[in-house]
Amino acid sequence: MPELPEVETVARQLDPLVSGRLVERLRIADDRLAPGPGPTLAGRRVVRVHRIGKQIAVTTAGPAPADEAHLVIHLRMTGRLLWQRSRHRVLRPPLRAALDVEGGALVFSDVRRFGTLRWARSLDDVLGGAVDPLSRGLTARALGGILGTTSQPLKPWLLRQDKLVGIGNIYASEIPFVAGLSPFREAGSLDEEEVGRLHRGVRRVLRRAIDACGTTFSDFQDAHGVTGSYQRLLSVYGREGEPCRRCGATIRRAVQQQRSTFYCPACQG
Ligand SMILES: [Zn+2]
Repeated sequence: MPELPEVETVARQLDPLVSGRLVERLRIADDRLAPGPGPTLAGRRVVRVHRIGKQIAVTTAGPAPADEAHLVIHLRMTGRLLWQRSRHRVLRPPLRAALDVEGGALVFSDVRRFGTLRWARSLDDVLGGAVDPLSRGLTARALGGILGTTSQPLKPWLLRQDKLVGIGNIYASEIPFVAGLSPFREAGSLDEEEVGRLHRGVRRVLRRAIDACGTTFSDFQDAHGVTGSYQRLLSVYGREGEPCRRCGATIRRAVQQQRSTFYCPACQG
């Protein structure tokens, strides 16, 4: 499953290729896809391809003012979104859909067919009340509000997709390390200064992963989906028994809610 940094990378790569082009039609070749009622396509252009949570939004605008519609794609397990200058006349599996635009097509390929694609008039509801961890709206104060008074330990809390969208298991170990916080701390017990550290940690870890992802996107990925260069940047994840890069103490592994947590017992006391 692509993580937030991979989805961001896909969106950044597609945006300059597709933006500005006139939309011609949306072809759906798989009955399982239910895009819902779409906008009138005549005269409509792609404005932007961007990430929202772990989904990709192809934002389009019609000729009339304020006529935006977004094609929102969730890649899930095996979905891929590809730009092709030459169009497939017939979409055969694993191709499930194509947004034909002038000069090419944005093709949705998906072997296991868990991905989704739908039209949305607004992006407000796409995340279902959860928050994108890199959105401008997520200030340290806002993060404190989302944490509330939960007694859930910090690391499993970071994995909750109904709170912050798109933080996977690797980043949920790396963020507490960067913030100098124990993964076992009650997430709702952090004071203001600690919430500030957590806020900076979330952004730093995700941005660094996006940077690494952008430069090595086609590299070999291991079973965890970690690209080669990002693996070298990991502070604790997958490093049980190895020395902490900051203090030299031995990195430990624990299991929280059936998922591995890696941490430095000295730096994250
Ligand atoms: Zn350490």
